[in-house]
Amino acid sequence: MTTHTTRMLIIGSGPAGLSAAIYGARAGMEPIVVQGLQPGGQLTITTDVENYPGFRDVIQGPWLMQEMQAQAEQVGTRMMWDTITDIDLTGPKFIASGDSGDTYEGDTLVIATGAQARWLGVPGEQALSGKGVSACATCDGFFFRGKKVAVIGGGNTAVEEALYLTNHSDDVTLIHRRDSLRAEKILQDRLLANPKISVLWNKTVEEFQAGGDGSLNALRLVDTQSGEESIFATDGGFVAIGHAPSTELFKGKLAMDDGGYLDVQPGTPKTAIPGVFACGDVMDQVYRQAVTAAGTGCMAALDAERYLAEKQFAEQSHVAAE
Ligand code: NDP
Repeated sequence: MTTHTTRMLIIGSGPAGLSAAIYGARAGMEPIVVQGLQPGGQLTITTDVENYPGFRDVIQGPWLMQEMQAQAEQVGTRMMWDTITDIDLTGPKFIASGDSGDTYEGDTLVIATGAQARWLGVPGEQALSGKGVSACATCDGFFFRGKKVAVIGGGNTAVEEALYLTNHSDDVTLIHRRDSLRAEKILQDRLLANPKISVLWNKTVEEFQAGGDGSLNALRLVDTQSGEESIFATDGGFVAIGHAPSTELFKGKLAMDDGGYLDVQPGTPKTAIPGVFACGDVMDQVYRQAVTAAGTGCMAALDAERYLAEKQFAEQSHVAAE
């Protein structure tokens, strides 16, 4: 059981955590990144990435995360293969307990624990993930150019994803389990007015079915009113039934909204506790992109550095005054 100390403790190793680490390390803060249960985050479960700036050709999500990690280590980040199970935010040091029995103490804390797309949990869904099944139209819609696609869900995300997909496909179907949408009225109006989109009401998806080529070719649906089963042919199935931020650890310790996303001061990664910052999907339920996560990770590191500099200045002034 070892105690690791650092000026910047980062929990989470997706684009937000690793960008914070790169900036923090270059500022001489010798950050520690505790990687968590899914090192590299959500990008490690995607395949092709075409929207991360800087790469003309398609890159692979896992490769991008390996490169980000290597870059973070290259500039002086210490990566820890551990999962935080408890955290003490009372300060002045922020103390995290790892599953390994080790303890991590940070003068500042950057929370970058991310979020997970919620899945239906029906047969075929995981097996066909990346082979027609996706939870992100912005990431994967482009691969369905001219094809038939379906979006499952009835909230803002589902409607936005359906609208977005009309940039690539003329045949988009929204499949919802009820007869009314949860999405905002303005989005509903846009959806229902779009000639490229049809809506299937009162249907649940019970199975994702593969075709002969091993990729998705149909959904098995059940009508919630009649119980009738049907097969819906489609090349793409976008599951958009919400995301769950990984904030269990912070319940009762940091303010969060109804969805469990951490509250930050608008336009900043600052939480209500000075020295504790949140970045990436754990505080952003709207944009949720790798590049926006990386951006807020950078902001967290810059703010952490400023926080320490101000604290040090205040302490020195205090000593000088005595
Ligand atoms: P929501 O929780 O708002 O909606 C989830 C949708 O998925 C609901 O329609 C729900 O159905 C459906 N659903 C949930 N579980 C299942 C299931 N097992 N089977 C079938 N359907 C299911 O999630 P969103 O991701 O849409 O939005 C999350 C938050 O982010 C919201 O507050 C939203 O307003 C916000 N947001 C805002 C945006 C913006 O302002 N531009 C863009 C995107 C999100 P049912 O309705 O029957 O419960």
